[in-house]
Amino acid sequence: MLAATSSTKTPTAAKWLVAHDRQRGFFRLSFSLWHFFIVGTARTAAPGSVFSEENLPSLVATKSKFQAIRGTRDLLPPETALWNHVEETARQVFGTFGFGEIRPPILEPTELFARAVGGDTDIVSKEMYTFEDRDESSTSLRPEATASVCRSYIEHGMQQLPLPVKLYYIGPMFRRERPQKGRYRQFYQIGAEVLGGTDAPAIDAEVIEMVMTFFDRLQLPGVQLEINSIGHNAENCRAGYVARLQAALREVRDKLGPDSQRRIETNPLRVLDSKLEQEQSIIETLPRIADHLCDQCKAHYAAVEQQLGMRGVRYRENWRLVRGLDYYMRTTFEITAAGLGSQNAVCGGGRYDSLVELLGGPPTKGIGFAIGEDRLILSLEEAGKVPATAGRDVYIAWMGEQAFATAIRAAKTLRSAGISVELPPAEQKFGKALERASKLNSRYALILGDNEVAEGSWTLKTLADGMQQKFAEPELLDFLKRSL
Ligand code: ATP
Ligand code: MG
Repeated sequence: MLAATSSTKTPTAAKWLVAHDRQRGFFRLSFSLWHFFIVGTARTAAPGSVFSEENLPSLVATKSKFQAIRGTRDLLPPETALWNHVEETARQVFGTFGFGEIRPPILEPTELFARAVGGDTDIVSKEMYTFEDRDESSTSLRPEATASVCRSYIEHGMQQLPLPVKLYYIGPMFRRERPQKGRYRQFYQIGAEVLGGTDAPAIDAEVIEMVMTFFDRLQLPGVQLEINSIGHNAENCRAGYVARLQAALREVRDKLGPDSQRRIETNPLRVLDSKLEQEQSIIETLPRIADHLCDQCKAHYAAVEQQLGMRGVRYRENWRLVRGLDYYMRTTFEITAAGLGSQNAVCGGGRYDSLVELLGGPPTKGIGFAIGEDRLILSLEEAGKVPATAGRDVYIAWMGEQAFATAIRAAKTLRSAGISVELPPAEQKFGKALERASKLNSRYALILGDNEVAEGSWTLKTLADGMQQKFAEPELLDFLKRSL
């Protein structure tokens, strides 16, 4: 497979990857390839591969301009400050609800997702980044993390811990979707799961209350919570309803678009998700799940609603809110926010009481959610919550050998007091130094020439108004601590 590419005219690795990726619809990489990119040395390439010693020079000679892979992007300052703020807020809020952080690996056996998410879902059948590892085992970049959390729960025998186990995660997910605003191939989720113990409606309500508290703390604009119950997978409940829905859909089949027509047979519930304009009036006439829930599911749903009311959580019921996977049951919810166009869902969640068992663990209650962090950030940015470019508190404009030694010491003292300091590595004329200080958005310039050092009296210039004050060294620190 690799040898074939060496006969093409300009076998740049990038072209090879793109061509291969297009052909197959997903990437399959050998580890020698990864290793080559990461380590960047021919020595690590397997003998006889496209990256053998002899053809390496031609690869190096090809001046390729590297770009982030389509659907992936660099998160840069100052935006990363907002990402950190969001993540810190999540940690803080989730901590107050008793959640601990889990950091599962990004790579998992493909089979885990095939089993948990479902082999016939779009995610697994079309969107997963799957490759054969060196030992020929099929490995995937995670498209979501609930499966990993459940795998981990089983692997570490967490059912022995005081139940329920409450975990949250923050990290990148990978799905090969069509990139657009709010949709990326590497995107980030902040999610939480409650595993084990009971399925008390108060748990569902508290999980929802926690997400809403988090969004509230961030002042996310236009937050709307929608909830539904999709019952459980039994004849007297969802299974019976789905059969009825399917029969009703078959009758209106001709009026539906090709996607919905296909879903009538593969996943009828998903038709309810349709955003197609011409299907809306037809969908309104279909049977509704609320009329077909069993008594227990009906009571559970009513109790969740009552619990949400007690917690002051405002919601809208949406009977069309479904999850396409069998293991989901009862409470489902989705949260949308403003400023996102058609990709406006920032959070999806629900109860999945049979998932742990499906993965080979003990019968375990479960409920969780995943927040799309990229969309969350977009929405905050659209609402003008953009962090200011981080400046410096103090720019040290030093001149002279002796002053430099003092400047280094001063920088150390100030930094250890949490003050951000820019210390130029080489001497500058004062004019130049002040120019750079203001370019870096510094609040103060600390002027240190040999004279100042000799006198022990340092000049602090406020860049906004040009005001200058003189301080002895200890007073300076006091002043800065008070004013910053
Ligand atoms: P959508 O209907 O928007 O594709 P989904 O049902 O696939 O969402 P989930 O698998 O429930 O989404 O994931 C939870 C959240 O993760 C979504 O509400 C969304 O905010 C975010 N998300 C999902 N896929 C992407 C993506 N490709 N890029 C950015 N965010 C995403
Ligand atoms: Mg999706």
